Amino acid sequence: MSPPADPPELRDPALAGACGAYCGACLALRGELAAEAGALLGRLRRQGVLALARRLDPGDAPRIDAALEVLERLARTPACPGCGRGGGVPGCPVRDCARGRELETCAGCGRLAACAAGQEEPRAGRARAAAGRREREALRAGDGAAFPFGPAAFLRRLTRKYGGWNLANLEAIRALGLRAWLEERAASPGFRSLEVKGEEDVWSDG
Ligand code: SF4
Ligand code: SF4
Repeated sequence: MSPPADPPELRDPALAGACGAYCGACLALRGELAAEAGALLGRLRRQGVLALARRLDPGDAPRIDAALEVLERLARTPACPGCGRGGGVPGCPVRDCARGRELETCAGCGRLAACAAGQEEPRAGRARAAAGRREREALRAGDGAAFPFGPAAFLRRLTRKYGGWNLANLEAIRALGLRAWLEERAASPGFRSLEVKGEEDVWSDG
């Protein structure tokens, strides 16, 4: 039996990531990441893994305890609100760049092919520079970190991570228009972006 159709709020244009990811297919937005972490935590606790570790090898107990704490934190994490509502990657340069160009997504940008190939544009536009500065300052104020990549470099990393799914989405948005594309996404309620994500670390060099 096919899963029930997604609710209308998952057709919100704010869920179209600037990079072409669809937030409505993400475990974090749907609250499924927290739910899965909670379920695993419950099973591990009922299984008594910590007590078992103390019994078998007391040296393992601190590591298992730390892993359970990470799961606890994940289980308490609120659902991500989505790319267009301030969720996603804090300080994301792709979103910042698209917003600076007054675009909903990179689909409307003439530089998409160049960015997808990782060719950075000199950040000359005043509006883009100002938007980037504001977001980086907010990020620094939050956790002391500055975003390490420009928009093209990060878009290229994301595209590798998604195996091209986001670029295919951007092409479809170009062809169909954003609203019609969102209708199509909502018609595939069982799909999760996890299915196309590789294990590559988007923060690594290369
Ligand atoms: S990677 Fe950036 S542009 Fe893509 S969905 Fe996340 S925050 Fe939005
Ligand atoms: S310049 Fe690149 S990152 Fe910025 S909106 Fe255009 S395609 Fe997206």
